Amino acid sequence: MEVNCEGCAGCCLDWRGLLADEADARDAVDGDGHRRRDPFEGEDSVEPSREPLDDDPTFVPLTRDEVRAFLEAGMADALTPRFWHARDEREEPRSSDSSSGEAPREGVEIDGHTIAAIAGRPVFFIGLRKPPKPVAPFDRDEPAWLPTCVFLDPTTLQCRIHEDDLFPAECGAYPEHTLALGQETECERVESAVGGDRLLAADHDDPDGLLLGSQAIGAKLFCHPRPAALEGIVERAAADDLTRRDRAEPIAVAAASSPGTLAISEYHYEQATAQLLEGEDTDVEATTTESWVGPASRDWYERCREAGEAVPSPAVADAIEGERGAPETPGWDARE
Ligand code: SF4
Repeated sequence: MEVNCEGCAGCCLDWRGLLADEADARDAVDGDGHRRRDPFEGEDSVEPSREPLDDDPTFVPLTRDEVRAFLEAGMADALTPRFWHARDEREEPRSSDSSSGEAPREGVEIDGHTIAAIAGRPVFFIGLRKPPKPVAPFDRDEPAWLPTCVFLDPTTLQCRIHEDDLFPAECGAYPEHTLALGQETECERVESAVGGDRLLAADHDDPDGLLLGSQAIGAKLFCHPRPAALEGIVERAAADDLTRRDRAEPIAVAAASSPGTLAISEYHYEQATAQLLEGEDTDVEATTTESWVGPASRDWYERCREAGEAVPSPAVADAIEGERGAPETPGWDARE
């Protein structure tokens, strides 16, 4: 596997906003009002059977142990859940679903949405947030506000935790896992849209490490034992309006999960909840336990909201992230 990432970061941000027809594509919905057509999909593409509630095309799912590590590092503000709509019950049942020919009712009703579930427990990933940042990928002259991984340095388009213990395994396995699943990689999408050579050598077809099927439960795919606790949270997840307290509930369940089972450790749940909500009612900027991630993310959202049409230089990240303690990135000239 050999990739050319310089000046790209296409797998670390949502660059669909740079596509001319993105607005039309994003607005395309079906009769249920929740299907957004992916502008990368061709006319003959098949809609996924379970759509995420969020609109992140490059979501990075974390394992239970990685979630715990981010909590230990005081970086819970980097994390967010992903829920899915249950498979549309109007669809034709798949042959493996039921011998009776009727589709099983797999979802749980929360906030007016039918959420995908296992054994009556809503399922979800925990991944990395993407606050808006001014970035200029693909050698663009002008930056644009794009949803960008909380750990991406907008000035170099490099990952701030690349050499760190917190670097997600999923990021290290990209694009191998995507290729192993027989899907188009972000590298190829960038090549198609803006040219250049990104995927230089694709020779991986081993699905090891994908954590598929039942082994994913409690390890990467988490199951909430109390659906009622997600009331309000699901609605705000669908509206991209989650609060810190909203995110804390599923993150605590993920941290308390047990790989390969539906079991939740109440001890770890309580411990994680305490870590997640620490300092919530105080001046969070003044607490000593909070990392740079939370204040920087809040700052990005505020600046983007207030900026209107204006887009600042990516160098403003020095003040927003760097001065708050974000690790520096080496730049591309420093590579061997
Ligand atoms: S953690 Fe690093 S490599 Fe992974 S998506 Fe974020 S910036 Fe990219």
